[in-house]
Amino acid sequence: MKKHNFSAGPCILPQEVLQQASQAVLNFNDLNLSLIEISHRSKDFIAVMDKAQALVKELLNVPEGYSVLFLQGGASTQFLMTVMNLLKTTGKASYINTGAWSGKALKEGQKLGDISVIASSKDKNFSYIPKGFTCPEDVDYLHFTSNNTIFGTQFHEFPKVSGDTLLACDMSSDIFSRKIDVSKFDLIYAGAQKNMGPAGTTLVIIKDEILNKTGREIPTMLDYTTHISKGSMFNTPPVFAIYVSMLTLEWLKKNGGVEGIEKVNTAKAELLYSEIDRNPLFKGVAAIEDRSKMNVTFVLTDDSKQETFDKLWNDAGISGLNGHRSVGGYRASIYNALPLESVQVLVNTMQELEKLS
Ligand SMILES: *Cc1c(COP(=O)(O)O)cnc(C)c1O
Repeated sequence: MKKHNFSAGPCILPQEVLQQASQAVLNFNDLNLSLIEISHRSKDFIAVMDKAQALVKELLNVPEGYSVLFLQGGASTQFLMTVMNLLKTTGKASYINTGAWSGKALKEGQKLGDISVIASSKDKNFSYIPKGFTCPEDVDYLHFTSNNTIFGTQFHEFPKVSGDTLLACDMSSDIFSRKIDVSKFDLIYAGAQKNMGPAGTTLVIIKDEILNKTGREIPTMLDYTTHISKGSMFNTPPVFAIYVSMLTLEWLKKNGGVEGIEKVNTAKAELLYSEIDRNPLFKGVAAIEDRSKMNVTFVLTDDSKQETFDKLWNDAGISGLNGHRSVGGYRASIYNALPLESVQVLVNTMQELEKLS
C-alpha cells in the first residue's frame, strides 16, 4: 500500500499524476515515443510548455505584464538571479531572515552587493515571523521567504514596500497552497519539488517592466530576459519536470484550484495543530500565530516516548516525519497532494501514544 508521505521535499504528488507521468515516459500522446526522448521543439512538447505556463497564470491569476518561466538550478540558483537582475550596480537591498533558506539567499546576495537584514527571527531559532519593521525606501528590493520549510513558520500577512522598491519572494514551499495577489510582487520563484511537481525545474513569475534596469552585465543564462525572449526555451528545458508540473497543476484545477485546495489545507492544518495542542505528549515548535499550514513542526514533551511513537507511526505506514536536524523532533509536511486522511492517520497514532502512556 502507498505510504502516507509527509516528506518535506521532494514531496508527495497526486497518485493519478504519477500514473499519467509513467505512461508518458513509455508512450507520449500515442507517438510511440517517450516524452523524454522527443525534441523540446516538437509541437507535442511546445504544447506542454504552453499549457504549463497557462495553468500557472490561470491558477494564480497572474496579471498582464508578467512572464512565467520554468528554469533549472533550483530555487538556490534564484538566490543569485534575484540579485543579478534586481540589484543596481550601486544599489542596496533588504532581506528578512526567517530561516535556513532565507539565510542562504542572504548569503548569496551579500557576495554581490550591499545587502542588509532588516528583520530576523534568528534570536529564537527562527520560531516566529518578525513583525513591526519597515523596509527602507532607498533599497532596490526587499526579499523574503513566504514559508519556512524547515522551521514551520509562514507569513500570513506579506511585508510591504514603498516607492520604487521591488518585492521578491521565495515561495518554494507554499506556492499554489493559498490565494495570493501576484500584482503585489515583482518576482516570485519556487523550486517545483515542494508543492508543484518533481525536482528539476523552478517556477519564476516576473514582472517584465522591472528588468534591464541594473546597469549590470548579466551572464546569459542568469538573465531573465534571455529566458523570457525565448519562451522559457533558450536551452533545453527540463521536459519531464515541466510535464509532471503541468499534470499536477491540471489536477489542482480539477480539484477546485487554489481556492479549493486552500480550504483543504486549512482543514488539514487545523486537524493536526489541534491535536498537538490538545495532547499533553506533544507541543508545537513555532509561535502559534505564525504557524505554517504546509510544514508542521512539533516535539514530544517526554523524550523517553520517542521509540514508541516512532514505531507507532512507522507501523501506520507513515513516512518522512522526522524533523530537520536543526530543529529536531518531527515535521509533518502537509502539501497540497497529501490527503486529509493521511493527517487523520497521524493524529490517530498520536492518540494511540496517549492511550499507551
Ligand atoms: C527547498 C527550498 C529551497 C531550495 O530549493 P532547491 O530547489 O533545492 O534549490 C529554497 N527555498 C525554500 C523555501 C525551500 O523550501
